[in-house]
Amino acid sequence: MSATNITPIERESVRAARESARTSVVIIGAGINGISAFRDLAMQGIDVLLIERDDFASGATAASSHMIHGGIRYLENGEFRLVKESVQERNGLLKIAPHYVKPLETTIPIYSTFSGIFAAPLRFLTHKQGKPQERGAFLIKIGLTLYDTFSRDGGNVPRHRFHGRKKSLQQLPKLDHDIKYTATYYDASVHDPERLALDVLRDGDAAHSGAHALNYVEAIGLDDEGVLLRDRETGNEFHVAADVVVNASGPWTDLTNEALGTDTAFMGGTKARTSSSTTPSSLMRRPAVRSSSSTPMAVSS
Ligand SMILES: Cc1cc2nc3c(=O)[nH]c(=O)nc-3n(C[C@H](O)[C@H](O)[C@H](O)COP(=O)(O)OP(=O)(O)OC[C@H]3O[C@@H](n4cnc5c(N)ncnc54)[C@H](O)[C@@H]3O)c2cc1C
Repeated sequence: MSATNITPIERESVRAARESARTSVVIIGAGINGISAFRDLAMQGIDVLLIERDDFASGATAASSHMIHGGIRYLENGEFRLVKESVQERNGLLKIAPHYVKPLETTIPIYSTFSGIFAAPLRFLTHKQGKPQERGAFLIKIGLTLYDTFSRDGGNVPRHRFHGRKKSLQQLPKLDHDIKYTATYYDASVHDPERLALDVLRDGDAAHSGAHALNYVEAIGLDDEGVLLRDRETGNEFHVAADVVVNASGPWTDLTNEALGTDTAFMGGTKARTSSSTTPSSLMRRPAVRSSSSTPMAVSS
């Protein structure tokens, strides 16, 4: 008999979910958002089933630029709360996951002293998102000082440094010799986001006996009996009823909503018109389906 003819055996974890057929919350999609929601619920003692159609953390979470950044560029749009939160999350990750998250030294070459001092406040005051102009030393100094201020509580990355042309070229001789200054500040990077995500998953799994996570199981529909799931290994389909269904399928959010019976248009290119990806308007009648789009991995690049 060839290997392709072997009938796959149903996994014990899938059998248990199929036979139980009920939980409080079903989360669709085990990227960092679905996994974090899973852990959060498990730690509150809430029964939860997390399902992922491929391997855990194999979607956008595995394909990120591996930055854990505080979103310095959002300062210019006046999004202080977002930047503060992101910097604090970054510092938190540096503290609790130093085996994965490392400080990232970043140097900005600067070609002028005062460029952008009129354009940037205008963008801030009018909330315009247009193309930013070149920023000079003055603006960058203000931005980095604010960035450091948000970091005060964490204190786990050094404060920024400013250098003139001579010292900058001594330290980084391959830089363009036309620069006037450099500014060096710190963010953080994560080399293996999947491993960090798996740690969060295991944390949730260990926190509550009613918390279960299944990979290679996909959500394909929703009806009065609950969410219709398909075990991709055996092809078996089964229902799991829940009070709440969370759609945390990231870039696939609209497709998942469509499979569940609701048309949405949350996803779009950043350069094109997009509808808000934070509006939970995909709430559905039979169990409530919530689309998750916030990211605990700092802001997106
Ligand atoms: C090019 C790029 C670079 C980025 N760089 C950074 C960065 O440097 N730093 C940063 O913090 N963020 C970055 N981001 C953003 C970050 O990657 C995302 O915000 C985050 O990974 C989203 O996680 P998620 O859980 O929402 O989605 P995903 O990780 O995509 O998880 C969704 C999961 O849902 C599963 N799924 C879909 N449909 C179904 C279904 N029907 N049934 C079951 N499962 C299903 C998918 O298989 C997938 O695993 C970047 C994003 C991109 C695209």
